Amino acid sequence: MKDELLKQIKPLAEQLQTLQEQAERLGIFTGDRELLECAECGLEEDVTADGFLIVCRKPVPGTDTGLRFTKAVENKGKYLCPVCGKPAQFGVS
Ligand SMILES: [Zn+2]
Repeated sequence: MKDELLKQIKPLAEQLQTLQEQAERLGIFTGDRELLECAECGLEEDVTADGFLIVCRKPVPGTDTGLRFTKAVENKGKYLCPVCGKPAQFGVS
């Protein structure tokens, strides 16, 4: 029974993963992590009403700078600030 369920779920999980990657490539925030910020530079991520991930400067919320936090190559799950290159913090309110 359990094996049968796993067999049914596996292709769906793979499809979901593919969809998530495609959405990310399009710039859509999939909600798989918290939003990032760099306190040093005053940059923070935001999500538009259309679901797109943007990066704003703190005094000007909602305006996309066109900058994006990048995934740290050597440390999975960490992101780097596009301006100062320091590790970004999770948990923007
Ligand atoms: Zn920074």
